[in-house]
Amino acid sequence: MSKKNHQNTQLVSSGRKKAYTHGVVNPVVQRASTIVFDTVADLKQAAKTRGDKTLFYGRRGTTTHFALQEAITELENGAGCALYPCGAAAISQALLAFLKTGDHILMVDNVYEPTRDFCDKILAGLGITTTYYPPTIGSQIKQYIKPNTKVLFLESPGSITMEIQDVPAMVKVANKHNIMTMLDNTYGNGLHYRPLEHGVDISIQAATKYIVGHSDVMMGVAVANEKYWPQLREQSYLLGQCTSADDAYLALRGLRTMAVRLNQHEKAAIEVAKWLEKHELVDHIRHPAFESCPGHAFFKRDFDGSNGLFSFVMKTGSQKAIDAFLDSLTHFKMGFSWGGFESLVTANLTMKGLRSNTGWEHGPVIRLHIGLEDIDDLIADLAQALNIYQKNL
Ligand SMILES: *Cc1c(COP(=O)(O)O)cnc(C)c1O
Repeated sequence: MSKKNHQNTQLVSSGRKKAYTHGVVNPVVQRASTIVFDTVADLKQAAKTRGDKTLFYGRRGTTTHFALQEAITELENGAGCALYPCGAAAISQALLAFLKTGDHILMVDNVYEPTRDFCDKILAGLGITTTYYPPTIGSQIKQYIKPNTKVLFLESPGSITMEIQDVPAMVKVANKHNIMTMLDNTYGNGLHYRPLEHGVDISIQAATKYIVGHSDVMMGVAVANEKYWPQLREQSYLLGQCTSADDAYLALRGLRTMAVRLNQHEKAAIEVAKWLEKHELVDHIRHPAFESCPGHAFFKRDFDGSNGLFSFVMKTGSQKAIDAFLDSLTHFKMGFSWGGFESLVTANLTMKGLRSNTGWEHGPVIRLHIGLEDIDDLIADLAQALNIYQKNL
């Protein structure tokens, strides 16, 4: 039986033990800094098992956090899940948990911009070097490996230009050289892609996006396999990473409806992308489910579905045309944190500053997040805005 057929059941049931819910439907919100102990024996017992869903100290979480950690661990099929105050923290802290001065990391060239900035501005200052590799490199990643390479970091599909990576081929090379692998799985979200099932050691998500799903909480998660979970957990605590019980509760609430939301985001985005594909101003579509997206074959092989996020590349453009286009949209608001119920748009005239290894030979890139509005309204909005784009070229 494929896991896919049980995902709705899992999303509804996970993290709902009686110890967390106290007999109601949802886990209770347990806010705490101090955990109090009545006897020395109780304190000793808690200290001994403190890494393992046991109340010990507020920073190590309460039952609300344990419920969310359990649900996300099941979603990503891992050994354990660490919580962080946002996706950027999950990325930076997962890296810091395993790197030391003198180490080298391999980073995909279309990575989320703040991840790139973390490498160039923070890791570089700690004496940890980064090499950016082309997203389509596959097993040729071996050319980039150095004796001190410690981590291979992947993001698939990558930010904005959406190339999909040949993850199993790359993991195979990394394993051979004793290099650990981490993947930013914010797009794949555990429902449509589970990196640990493809050999990746740590899967990271901005839960801010589809898990929370309502654009009202910042949250990051990192799920590790058996081998790396103890170190990820302990180092994250030492680095002071924790989240509020209220935010953990909202993330759990978002999780319950994630599959039905994603189905609608996916259906609507494909319809809008098909419409855009035929538009005379559009060069090609960067949607993982479309053949025009680099790495589409890996998407077909490894993913169970897509979602509301995709980009399209214009044949020609100018900053004036882009600005007029953006200003004329009504349902698509300009904003970066996708994954909520609402449609969003961002645009880049060039990829300058966003990649350093690979070039960009194409026109401007417009990225959309297709929300839960009616599809006809979204298409009508894009149609009028593309007319304005043309008039301002
Ligand atoms: C949004 C995003 C992040 C960062 O998440 P925050 O919660 O906003 O810090 C990381 N990676 C990707 C791919 C994202 O889209």
